[in-house]
Amino acid sequence: MMNIPRLALPLALAALAACAPSAQAPASTPAALPAGSAAYGQEPRWGMVIHGGAGTITREQMTPEREAAYRAGLERALRAGYAVLQRGGRSLDAVQAAINVMEDDSLFNAGRGAVLNAEGHPEMDAAIMDGSTLAAGSVAGVHHVRNPISLARLVMEKSPHVMMIGDGAEVFGRQQNVRMEDESYFITAPRRASWERQRAADSVRAASGRGAMAPEPAYSVPDERKFGTVGAVALDQAGNLAAGTSTGGTQMKRYGRVGDAPIIGAGTYASNSSCAVSATGTGEYFIRNTVARSICALVEYGHMPLAQAADSVVMRQLVRQNGDGGIIAMDRQGNWTWPFNTSGMYRGHIDARGAIQIQIFKQ
Ligand code: ASP
Repeated sequence: MMNIPRLALPLALAALAACAPSAQAPASTPAALPAGSAAYGQEPRWGMVIHGGAGTITREQMTPEREAAYRAGLERALRAGYAVLQRGGRSLDAVQAAINVMEDDSLFNAGRGAVLNAEGHPEMDAAIMDGSTLAAGSVAGVHHVRNPISLARLVMEKSPHVMMIGDGAEVFGRQQNVRMEDESYFITAPRRASWERQRAADSVRAASGRGAMAPEPAYSVPDERKFGTVGAVALDQAGNLAAGTSTGGTQMKRYGRVGDAPIIGAGTYASNSSCAVSATGTGEYFIRNTVARSICALVEYGHMPLAQAADSVVMRQLVRQNGDGGIIAMDRQGNWTWPFNTSGMYRGHIDARGAIQIQIFKQ
């Protein structure tokens, strides 16, 4: 019996490494410097990557006004995170600041603008993780918390727990003076209309006898899922990584369904030993494949460069299973990547000089 754990780890690592085309040593930084700083003449490598969800996002469906609104929303979030990093603040605070901006922006599926579950209610999940300590906090199935990522942070810092759910999480939030809102605050007219359309389409499908017992989620109108989960990963000037994710989940999910975002290692993970990851996509696949932790394990134990590790999980492993979505990731050298296997992903990067890059579609 005692030999099993000793054998299991190398086997699991070998299996993970086998997913990648080839293993190379990651780029290294000068040993005496914190990872986010720079030697004389070198560019500092700290910065932040964010996402605002992946899914069926095509140029044909996008109006110029809508695209401009998304770009503006992503830029506001990047600038909020950057302000923290620039003054020497913690990556954890930068991640929270950027996510708070997107939670308050009804364009995104998190906080205000969260999609509705099968009963027509918003039901939100969020997680945050500190790569320097492996401290983590998460909440699932909350209905009234204005900024779920802030409650996740409080679970991490003000409770002995990692994860809290539903009513208990909200009781804790009230004790911590977290801002609560009536349901009407979260539900926007476009989300309600989208939900109505999906409900109508699903009832037509059920009446025709197709798919009523389907094991896969009954997303009869895939475009209506409107991914828009938000996430951020950051490396600060002290060389510490952090990650966070906040979401309303998938539209028409069952009451009580929990996605990958609040599950540490699935949709959210950060460790200074490897990388920081935030995911978006159909959470069930990200949970089964422990996507965020798998990428970091390839970096940590497989010594794989970040981009290669992320690609092997998102573009190969998930694709083989039809697991749709994408991730953002950053390592301690400031390398970053944002692979996705859907038609688009709202995403942005800001570097130490404040230079911003925002993209939506496949390039
Ligand atoms: N990953 C989220 C979930 O499954 C949804 C999303 O990213 O759009 O809850």
